[in-house]
Amino acid sequence: MTTSAQTADTLNLFENAKLQFEQALTWIDSIKVGIIDYLISPKRTIHVRFPVNMDDGSIQTFHGFRCLHNRVRGPGKGGIRYHPDVTEAEVAALAAFMTWKTAVVDIPFGGGKGGIVCNPKELSRSELRRITRRFVMELGDTIGPHTDIPAPDVYTDQQTMAWIYDTFDLMHQGENNLAVVTGKPLEIGGSVGRDEATARGSLYATQQLIERGVVPDMRTLNGIRVAVQGYGNAGSIAAKLFHECGARIVAVSDSRGAIASDSGLDPLHVLEHKDETGSVVGFPGTTEISNEELLAYDCDILIPAALECQIHAENAADIKARLIVEDANGPITMAGDKILQEKGVVVLPDIVANAGGVVVSYFEWVQNLENQQWDLEKVDRKLRKKMNRAVDDTVDRWTALRTRHEDGFNDGNSGPTLRDAALVVAIERIATVVLQRDIWP
Ligand code: NAD
Repeated sequence: MTTSAQTADTLNLFENAKLQFEQALTWIDSIKVGIIDYLISPKRTIHVRFPVNMDDGSIQTFHGFRCLHNRVRGPGKGGIRYHPDVTEAEVAALAAFMTWKTAVVDIPFGGGKGGIVCNPKELSRSELRRITRRFVMELGDTIGPHTDIPAPDVYTDQQTMAWIYDTFDLMHQGENNLAVVTGKPLEIGGSVGRDEATARGSLYATQQLIERGVVPDMRTLNGIRVAVQGYGNAGSIAAKLFHECGARIVAVSDSRGAIASDSGLDPLHVLEHKDETGSVVGFPGTTEISNEELLAYDCDILIPAALECQIHAENAADIKARLIVEDANGPITMAGDKILQEKGVVVLPDIVANAGGVVVSYFEWVQNLENQQWDLEKVDRKLRKKMNRAVDDTVDRWTALRTRHEDGFNDGNSGPTLRDAALVVAIERIATVVLQRDIWP
């Protein structure tokens, strides 16, 4: 059966981000029209083209972007990705996600994102170093500890962040510049706990959500069947942490395929196998399944932790999980969301579920500004507090909106989702600051 949601589906991340924002606005009864216009588009996007000496002696011109979506609550914050498919629209959508995410977890940042159109798999380390350093020089003072603070993203890592810091530091000698970038190696101002932060944050958020009774008949992770799409930083660590809490990891996947075992997988052994062979596929004692089959696998919790727009109009009806924890950014389309809502599947939205990474980036920034080094116990304790608060704020708003909906508010709509509620919390926080700061002259 084709629903109206199916016919309206789009696999474009930017379109989905815009649709999500517009839907959330229907749950806010008083916001100035001018503020909506201001929030919907990025504050600025910088394009730079720059030449780089390649290893073979040739010169190649690269195209990079840095989008600052909004900075009323603090400096821009968001990753830099290196990928052949980077576009201005994609960077703008991801920067908007960062604006909502930093607001819903209540850290003093706005949203930013950057990228360079390149294929890191075809570039040497030395070429990547020259590209990174030149990009930072081109960005100049548009990035900075109190302006816009990059972090790792797709195909950028601690080493990339070390190059960013060093280049910026050379341009601003005599100052403490550590806070210009987060996700740095521990030895130059990185924070303990940053590597696991996204997955750990999603675990804490899930625990708080089920403790609040939002998922019918799910009050503990013990014995809960979990499937994970993507076995990189977010996915493999989520599998490990959920397993440590008693969950049974019944299926996992990566770009080469998926594996399943109803008796449960040991996530660390699967990771060793992936490190040795390049893929989770072929792990002894498992059945190979397709990535589509993984999404539809018989489980209680599904954790998409790979790419955007994976659950959409064509496959959402097949999902069997009762709860989806969005470790990836934008893994469900708007049409997918509608179908899941009709089926009663609870979705813990990305701007809450995967915010642990940016929360610990915030901790790194604070430690850098104060020349401090916190221990892991302190980082994890503060992370849990932030994640619990974000879940509580989201669930409280969702509960209030549901009550109002039952009383006739926004009755053309099928009822609020947790995503709507999280976005409402974020948008209202930003709008409040816009009004308090009286930002227009
Ligand atoms: P990663 O590169 O470490 O891992 C990505 C994984 O996805 C890899 O195992 C890859 O093989 C797999 N993958 C790629 N295509 C796939 C496909 N078609 N089907 C199944 N698996 C596929 O990336 P990551 O850092 O873990 O990020 C994953 C997602 O989480 C992204 O959406 C990212 O934006 C989001 N996220 C990550 C962080 C973080 O701190 N790492 C923070 C917030 C959000």
